[in-house]
Amino acid sequence: MSYHSTRGQAPALAFDDVLLAGLARDGGLYLPSQWPHFSKEELASFAGLSYPELAVRVMLPFLDGTIAEDDFARMVAETYAGFGHAAVAPLKQLGRNDWLLELFHGPTLAFKDYALQLLGRLFDHVLAKKGRRVTIVGATSGDTGSAAIEACRDRAAVDIIILHPKGRTSEVQRRQMTTVMSSNVRNIALEGTFDDCQDMVKAMFNDEPFRDRLNLSAVNSINWARIMAQIVYYFAAGTALGAPHRPISFAVPTGNFGNVYAAFAARRMGLPVNQLVVGSNTNDILTRFFDSGRMSKGEVVPTLSPSMDIQVSSNFERYLFDLFCEDGARLRDFMERFRRDGAFEVGETMQTSIASLFQGYRLDDEGTKRVIRQVYEETGELLDPHSAIGVAAGRARRRDRATPMVALATAHAAKFPDAVEAATGVRPALPERLADLYDRPERYDVLPNDLEAVKDYVRQVAGVNA
Ligand SMILES: *Cc1c(COP(=O)(O)O)cnc(C)c1O
Repeated sequence: MSYHSTRGQAPALAFDDVLLAGLARDGGLYLPSQWPHFSKEELASFAGLSYPELAVRVMLPFLDGTIAEDDFARMVAETYAGFGHAAVAPLKQLGRNDWLLELFHGPTLAFKDYALQLLGRLFDHVLAKKGRRVTIVGATSGDTGSAAIEACRDRAAVDIIILHPKGRTSEVQRRQMTTVMSSNVRNIALEGTFDDCQDMVKAMFNDEPFRDRLNLSAVNSINWARIMAQIVYYFAAGTALGAPHRPISFAVPTGNFGNVYAAFAARRMGLPVNQLVVGSNTNDILTRFFDSGRMSKGEVVPTLSPSMDIQVSSNFERYLFDLFCEDGARLRDFMERFRRDGAFEVGETMQTSIASLFQGYRLDDEGTKRVIRQVYEETGELLDPHSAIGVAAGRARRRDRATPMVALATAHAAKFPDAVEAATGVRPALPERLADLYDRPERYDVLPNDLEAVKDYVRQVAGVNA
């Protein structure tokens, strides 16, 4: 199996090169040229497996021999041994056929750990084999940065530098990044905004000689390996609730469409998925698309669920590729028009086919707080704002009471204590292993909003360990 780009003009690559490449050279996203498929008998045999055992079964076909099975099994076991719950991704019942899949038991308390913790290990393994090293550079408004740092800390072949806007992230988010003392981790507090941080990173990647000399790399959400690792928990939840003998539906709080695309992929691989409900906050480009068949960009508005404050969902391109019957030229055209006009539309037939699986649901900040309070009163569960949108979306859009609806809890309530306290009057506590976060020493370097100063810094860091 090799991987091809959604835009059809980049070379086909093997798994290990797709992992390191991230984005394809033609601007497209990589997808497997053939999808593995599990029979009903195989799905039935998943039911008794531990999470790491299941993870190996589900992901191994995607590696196509580029990583030895025993090496991979060891990396997977190490990855999830560090999680804070024996089940790794436990299911909690909220009501009749109303379930919550808790994906916040990783080191930074958000679902991104489930993929990034494995990605860090895969990077190290593949780089060592190729005798290479990379410097990962990224910008964060808070959440992704900490998950990436935790994934890369102490990896031998990787240095990581994360820029955050000085004084503009929440204290939990800053401390999750700046209290990591590993020598291969650097935090830059930039005297600027999140957009300034992003512009810096873009400018460094666009400077080809600089990028190539320092082996710059990224671990952003378009990396295929992140999708691959997220497919696993859909199989875990599905088979725990009766698949292949009964179908299952999911409600996913969505930003870049990576998480819900992994659910779509699980369905392609044989999991009987009935409905996929896509939850959004007031940044509702996807809800509007599912309602009307028209995708049109708006302005990004800040909300209580910042990880979903996104207008263009980059992974949506992977789903479009499937809708367009894997016609890269047609998709290239389409994306070009979207870039030029800020909008596109699909025909009625296609809209009907999309609506048979996907529904959208939007919830504003007031509604989000209301749902947090309501679920707390009903069940005693404290939901974070992202997870609350998932639960509300599933409840509002489910077509069928007999099919289990599983909402994804994508972050721990203690990551967003102010919103949760405003909704319930209860301030959620950090889990035991992070309880001393506010007492740990911090380390970061303050830099001016100046590209040359940042480049000098990156050169120095890359040189130190070269
Ligand atoms: C990243 C993130 C999301 C959005 O996930 P996508 O894969 O980008 O759709 C939702 N909730 C939380 C807490 C996140 O960190």
